Amino acid sequence: MQFGPYIMTALLAAPVIGIVALASYRLRALSMSGAIGAVVTGLIVFVIGGISASVALFAFFIFGSLLSKLPWPGGRKKSIGGSERDWKQVLANGGVPCAALLLLFARPDLREEASMLYLGAIATMFADTSATEIGTRFGKRAINILTFKPIEPGTSGGVSAIGFAASLAAPALITLLHYLTRGLGELCEFQGAHWVMPLVLGGFIGALTDSVLGASIQAKYRCGVCGKVVESHRHCGKEAVLISGVPWIGNNAVNAIASLIGALVSLGLLYRFG
Ligand SMILES: [Zn+2]
Repeated sequence: MQFGPYIMTALLAAPVIGIVALASYRLRALSMSGAIGAVVTGLIVFVIGGISASVALFAFFIFGSLLSKLPWPGGRKKSIGGSERDWKQVLANGGVPCAALLLLFARPDLREEASMLYLGAIATMFADTSATEIGTRFGKRAINILTFKPIEPGTSGGVSAIGFAASLAAPALITLLHYLTRGLGELCEFQGAHWVMPLVLGGFIGALTDSVLGASIQAKYRCGVCGKVVESHRHCGKEAVLISGVPWIGNNAVNAIASLIGALVSLGLLYRFG
């Protein structure tokens, strides 16, 4: 295997990726550990996947960060947790896409499969981020996806009508960007209309999975000080009590599992209907 061209590409891309990561750190979209994780992820994506793969990841990252900075209607401000992403969040978001590209690197004969897994994972995360950021701000009513009971917008496991719309629009944008950048890099080219449904529906179902996991196995705690149900085991400076879910399954684990499922659903839909 020839590593020379890969090393050259990495050396050329590193300064650009470094500048984007540094700017994201300065703009508080990433913590320091998140910025380092983003450089590693960016290098893997650009060196193995090329421009087409990078555009999809970049769009998810930029639009996701912009959506998290959207103003809150009525001036109310709710925190969904710090908006700075740390390395754990970068790994939860970038793990499956990077694994798909490593598959592409190791098995160039599986190019179409690896490309669909990569794009399906990104479509899922973008769908989930968009649904959360938009649904929390503009959702009139949110319900628990499993019990259908009303739930505070922004709580894991909650879904809303506008959130559903966002989680269809986001994968559609990823699909459009892949169409516009087809052939630029190592990802399999956009192959016509039969790639649209697997990506859009795969991303949508992946985001839906995220909500189902958020409503079921994700750890939820009750803060003994303020009485709120929270997703972190510490709140108001005190240990909170586990009231449901699995203690070691937090938001990052749910995101990683959902992106894997979204990727596999996209691939399955391509096999079945492509
Ligand atoms: Zn509290």
